[in-house]
Amino acid sequence: MGKTAFVTGGSRGIGRAIVRRLAAEGCAVGINYLQSEKEAKALAAEICGQGGCAVAVQADVADGAAAAAAIRRVEEAFGPVEVLVNNAGIAHNHLFQDTSEELWNRMLAVHAGGAFHTIQAVLPHMLHEKEGCIVNISSIWGLRGAACEVAYAASKAAVIGLTRSLAMELAPSHIRVNCVAPGVIETDMVRTLGAETLAKLVEQTPAGRLGRPEDVAKAVAFLVREDADFITGQVLTVDGGFIL
Ligand code: NAP
Repeated sequence: MGKTAFVTGGSRGIGRAIVRRLAAEGCAVGINYLQSEKEAKALAAEICGQGGCAVAVQADVADGAAAAAAIRRVEEAFGPVEVLVNNAGIAHNHLFQDTSEELWNRMLAVHAGGAFHTIQAVLPHMLHEKEGCIVNISSIWGLRGAACEVAYAASKAAVIGLTRSLAMELAPSHIRVNCVAPGVIETDMVRTLGAETLAKLVEQTPAGRLGRPEDVAKAVAFLVREDADFITGQVLTVDGGFIL
């Protein structure tokens, strides 16, 4: 592919799998992290050790100036970002009446705000070149809704709205904007649910297993490749049939 990619929340879980996949396809990758410096740097070293190009950059994507500065550092190293993956995310488990305004705002700031900030930072170059690819990671809960995760689901629905609307706005400039909506994927985010709940979720999944980070990474790689060059504004569900 030979492009510069920027993956938010690339230090762990789904983001790490996306970073590995894009690097394997020849991208130079900016690995954004919030707290997991050791993991992000180890991933960058792993990719560089295999002959690829990667750099770890810290930023809270909810902070517009920090996100833009992280993207600038990657661009100084590898050139303008042509592939942007907005993956950074956080979860919560609260009844709506127990959801503080702070938590509500944080969910929107990380998921919708994070995408807003990174897209604003990479868009001038993409518009100038009339080329670019943006993939936003939403969730099946953003499509279907989820009890006890209202703030999470609402912020992930916002990401879908952003994706579809921006895809319409940017299609004439040959910039594609798509979304991947994972189902239940085995990462730190869902391991906190406990073995019993996870076993029930497997039972509810027609494919008979939980998703793996690599399942999501493959979908992202497909949307990024030229094979998908007439696909924009779509939400690709990667859930083993969970919400069918
Ligand atoms: P995870 O294992 O908990 O990893 C979350 C990643 O996001 C970490 O790399 C973390 O960085 C980063 N992050 C969190 N807040 C950030 C911020 N403010 N700025 C920058 N980075 C931040 O989660 P995951 O399961 O891989 O989830 C990845 C994405 O997929 C999320 O958007 C999530 O909502 C979505 N998703 C996950 C599932 C699932 O079942 N796992 C299902 C549907 C959607 P640090 O470690 O450096 O702090």
